[in-house]
Amino acid sequence: ADLYSIDQWGVGYFSIADNGEVHVNNPTSANRSTDTTTLNNTSVSLVDIVQGMKERGLEMPAILRIENLLDQRIKELNEAFLRAITAAEYQGNYRGVFPIKVNQQCHVIEEIADFGRRFNHGLEAGSKAELIIALSQLRNHESPNQDSLIVCNGYKDSEFIDLGLYANQMGISCFFVLETPAELPIILERSRALNIKPLIGVRIKSSVVVDGHWNEDSGDRSIFGLSTNSLLEVVEQLKTANMLDCLQLLHCHLGSQIPNIRNIRNGVLEACRFYSELINEGAPMGYLDLGGGLAVDYEGASSNSTHSMNYKLDEYCANIVETIIESLDPLDIAHPTIVTESGRATVAYSSLLLFNILDVRNHEPQALPATLADDAHELLHNLFAVLGNTTNKNFQECYNDAIYYRDEIRELFRRGQVNLHERALGDNITLAILEKISHILKTIERIPPELEKLPELLSDIYYGNFSLFQSLPDIWAIDQVFPVMPIHRLNEQPDREAIIADITCDCDGKIDRFISPDGIRNTLPLHKLNKNEEYYVGVFLVGAYQETLGDLHNLFGDTNVVSVRLNGDGSFDFVREFHGDSISDVLSYVEYEPKQMLEQFRRKAEQAVKEQKITVAQRQEILKAFKESLQGYTYFEREQVN
Ligand code: PLP
Repeated sequence: ADLYSIDQWGVGYFSIADNGEVHVNNPTSANRSTDTTTLNNTSVSLVDIVQGMKERGLEMPAILRIENLLDQRIKELNEAFLRAITAAEYQGNYRGVFPIKVNQQCHVIEEIADFGRRFNHGLEAGSKAELIIALSQLRNHESPNQDSLIVCNGYKDSEFIDLGLYANQMGISCFFVLETPAELPIILERSRALNIKPLIGVRIKSSVVVDGHWNEDSGDRSIFGLSTNSLLEVVEQLKTANMLDCLQLLHCHLGSQIPNIRNIRNGVLEACRFYSELINEGAPMGYLDLGGGLAVDYEGASSNSTHSMNYKLDEYCANIVETIIESLDPLDIAHPTIVTESGRATVAYSSLLLFNILDVRNHEPQALPATLADDAHELLHNLFAVLGNTTNKNFQECYNDAIYYRDEIRELFRRGQVNLHERALGDNITLAILEKISHILKTIERIPPELEKLPELLSDIYYGNFSLFQSLPDIWAIDQVFPVMPIHRLNEQPDREAIIADITCDCDGKIDRFISPDGIRNTLPLHKLNKNEEYYVGVFLVGAYQETLGDLHNLFGDTNVVSVRLNGDGSFDFVREFHGDSISDVLSYVEYEPKQMLEQFRRKAEQAVKEQKITVAQRQEILKAFKESLQGYTYFEREQVN
């Protein structure tokens, strides 16, 4: 059985091979020299990639990027729109733009700009820094992205605007999307000063409130976009400045991860109404930008739960194309170029986080004596009797009794009337009773609500070598659920139920919601650790937002990163490798001066020599360890066990 639902969320990119290892499949391999794509079905084991990383000194935890999957997503998105456009005889084009904020890492953006060139896939920038990335990436001497767009959202000062205007002068279509009417006078002023015409877009506030986490991006309370009055104000200002011809784009972003296709249809419908009204006002228009929102099916459940979606990519494209046709054809309005700013759906699949398990705490009771000594505490005798009497008929009553006696023992311990040995024995017998009840629960149909959480309370804690706050911040921030599973030993039945804790000392640093064929569950089936053998876990579909939003909680820094490209013959190349932050790096992020720290520590060591607490040789040894730590990885490093 597909315990981890990989066949659902993996959508053919990931699967389990006969040897029990997770493989990444190479759905198509792009031939870079001829820009053609050929189909082949080769796959590579993630364990082989981990082994290769090890040989290159890239230890866990690490982010693994699979370039082919990024290419594939760009290809699928563009081809799906092309199919929908052709099928509906739509007269306009599709121009995708990737929102840089979703993953700003240089090699991700380079790959998008490079591979996206064949589809004229552009970039969306929300700040000056992102515009600088877009300008440097899209302009390629050998083969400029003639037809790609740069869409600028967010607040724009005159420096930002000048950069965008210069881009226009160089022949790059760079749109300024107005978030507020206050931006327009600066654009008009800079345009006059530089004598360059701007391309202007307006972001509307859609009144469609969408399902999912990000529904505050939409509706009247959305913090972005122009109200209807402001929109009219902008049109008037442009008319007065005699620059209404610059207004060519309407922008509407309903929110990220929209699980319900009906919301999208309604959003497009409303956007088309605004679009046609702006044409009535005399604006030329030409571009309809529908923002992001195309969801990722993290659960693979094909439902409209927050982590899933009730539509497929083809349906998304067809809905958009058809809704535009239905809205604009009766008004005789030419079909606009459709722009979408899909971020999540473009990059999520291409990265996964890999980590090793450092330790396990299980809640199995210790071996109990066959009988209790006669003079053992009465409450212990009572508990012991409950253990002997628990059956599938009276387990609820036994549960109540066990908790009652356990709490009595704890109370007496607090008052000094029960010693540590007695308290430990009480806890242990209680654990044995709860284990017994937990086994009984597996055999019955209706579990009493009070006992529903028991298996979770008794589950193991697997300690993973990663920081949730650095690598999976959305789990903490918005209860995001990602697919998590071991990447090997999948031909063995996992015999433990566990939650996963990270290595920050923060009680929020844990993963305790998992995807299963029966929906979200609170424990994950895992294997018992084998002695002297690493156990590797992968968190999949983490390419969107996670790296960018991650933080330095407990000063765990960026992880190692590798990018691989799968070749047509089942081999793969390490195309990029980056060592994660050293301790020295993270210390300098928070304004320490590592050189100065070493000097301060050296003085302390010298003092200790003077005071004859250590020898000179020991001083050398200690300073060496200090220096090596400064240069070392922020995560748990252990001697190779394999
Ligand atoms: N465009 C804008 C304006 C956004 O605010 C966002 C993110 O919320 C996106 C695009 C990307 O959305 P998604 O990742 O859902 O495609």
